[in-house]
Amino acid sequence: MAASGMSNKAKYECLLFDMDDTLYPMSSGLNLACRKNIEDYMLHHLQIEESEVPKMCLDLYKEYGTTMAGLKELGYEFDNDEIHAYIHGRLPYDSLKPDPVLRNLLLSMPQRKIIFTNADEAHAAQVLSRLGLEDCFEGIICFETLNPPPKSESDDDNCFSGNSSKTENKPRATHILCKPNLEAIEAAIQIANIDPDKTVFFDDSARNIAAGKAAGLHTVIVGTSILVPGADYALNSIHNIKEALPEIWDAEEGEQMEAVIQSSVIETVVLA
Ligand SMILES: [Mg+2]
Repeated sequence: MAASGMSNKAKYECLLFDMDDTLYPMSSGLNLACRKNIEDYMLHHLQIEESEVPKMCLDLYKEYGTTMAGLKELGYEFDNDEIHAYIHGRLPYDSLKPDPVLRNLLLSMPQRKIIFTNADEAHAAQVLSRLGLEDCFEGIICFETLNPPPKSESDDDNCFSGNSSKTENKPRATHILCKPNLEAIEAAIQIANIDPDKTVFFDDSARNIAAGKAAGLHTVIVGTSILVPGADYALNSIHNIKEALPEIWDAEEGEQMEAVIQSSVIETVVLA
């Protein structure tokens, strides 16, 4: 309830949002369908023993942030675009409906707003569009941002306006950079050019939250009302954000106006 920092400077300058199971509830069924598709891929394309697939899928997800990242670490070879298309191409996107409540909340927040997801660009675009949130964010940090194709000749259409501090992206044939790897979070902080101490990070994964805290971010675990290690706040639903973090709206009026004008002009771009 402390009213600190209200006089001159806004407490927060940037809000960093995970997307899947954070901006929409787990009950949408996308998460389950996603896991089923990954398991099918492991079974039919990587010829992994059927009885081992479910546990391996979950273990790798927990250990490496995504099952895909774990499979690469184990030495499995596959094309990143191909597996993304396989996993996300057949998801029940119809279950995601426009969320005008969240949209209004996001648009009323004076801070910079950025998506930070392990998912690929096509999936992020699909989800944000289904939720009616495609113009609510300044940019998207996604799989391709942190794992550019090794050949990367000129992908300038994916660049982040005003980004002068790119992280040094190494070719990653076998290693995937993603949350909850601390290196991935630090890369996102650099790419978005944000001050962790003035940034709030929202994610439904306890591991990601712990890593976010280690990187110096303010943290909010979403999808539960129980705090996890490293979480500053817990939100059952992203819709409860105003009750839990009223200070997001505490920015000085002048600053708010300016930020709102800026954010409404900027088109959402994928950061690279
Ligand atoms: Mg998530």
